[in-house]
Amino acid sequence: MAATLMDGKALAQTVRAEVARDVAALGVPVGLATVLVGEDPASAIYVRMKREACAEAGIESIHHELPASTPEADMLALVEDLNADPRVTGILTQLPLPEQIDEDHVINAIDPMKDVDGFHPANAGFLFQGRPTLVAATPSGVMEILRAYDVELEGARAVVIGRSNIVGKPMALLLLAEHATVTIAHSRTRDLAEVAREADVLVAAVGRADTVTAAMVKPGATVIDVGINRVDGKVRGDAADDVREVAGLLTPVPGGVGPMTIAALLRNTVRAARYQSGELAFPLA
Ligand code: NDP
Repeated sequence: MAATLMDGKALAQTVRAEVARDVAALGVPVGLATVLVGEDPASAIYVRMKREACAEAGIESIHHELPASTPEADMLALVEDLNADPRVTGILTQLPLPEQIDEDHVINAIDPMKDVDGFHPANAGFLFQGRPTLVAATPSGVMEILRAYDVELEGARAVVIGRSNIVGKPMALLLLAEHATVTIAHSRTRDLAEVAREADVLVAAVGRADTVTAAMVKPGATVIDVGINRVDGKVRGDAADDVREVAGLLTPVPGGVGPMTIAALLRNTVRAARYQSGELAFPLA
């Protein structure tokens, strides 16, 4: 039987409407600063989509565009200004940055309470400790999809393929927090197919089309396809087409994890505003 597709697009609409209500009820202004450096077309599209989502939810969008040649010192100075600006309750620097700018230096410079991407070591550390604050948007969005489709996680075998700081690792920690038995696979994993076939919940966050094939999926498993790959002018995930014939639940690409990433970013933006207003206590403050 073909897999049921998990409709991230529809779910994201529901979340975005909820966020808009939260913003209206908050009573303090919420503003997301986006910083785009250079002219990468994919980055420009992502930032535009995030800004549109903010506008729809009643979040002020404060946008900065810098040339690709921007020195690191200028970028860090801008982050300092945004940290100090009370209009700005969230800061998002679109990655990747040009090579003269060290991404870690920029991430570390962002006020952890304004770190809506959840990449700052303080926020990553709180997640590691099992007391999440601002958590990376993509894995947060995935968890919301899993909840919406009542996917049983407690005691389940979960395999995450990919170990990046922005997707794979936080994804594994969130699944662990829900009491799944988690394996993280990566490019050095021996016999990926055998490891993947163990999974009741399989998350692919690799960035290479056809990484996961039907033969690697346990029949009836939930497959979350995080990958975004451009192949012959089309957007494709990491899962091959034949995965649909074996999986029980599957996120489509596009229309699965992508829209939920933006929805989760908006949720983080509201949460960041709550930290700054004092409504929520930030563990470092
Ligand atoms: P990275 O390139 O940082 O990480 C990719 C991971 O995949 C690495 O851990 C790498 O292993 C692993 N990997 C690479 N090749 C293989 C292989 N053959 N077998 C097993 N593992 C492999 O990517 P990101 O985590 O940033 O993103 C992953 C994908 O998710 C990309 O397609 C990206 O575009 C997409 N994405 C989608 C988002 C969305 O909103 N839907 C948001 C963010 C990302 P190793 O560590 O050993 O190198």
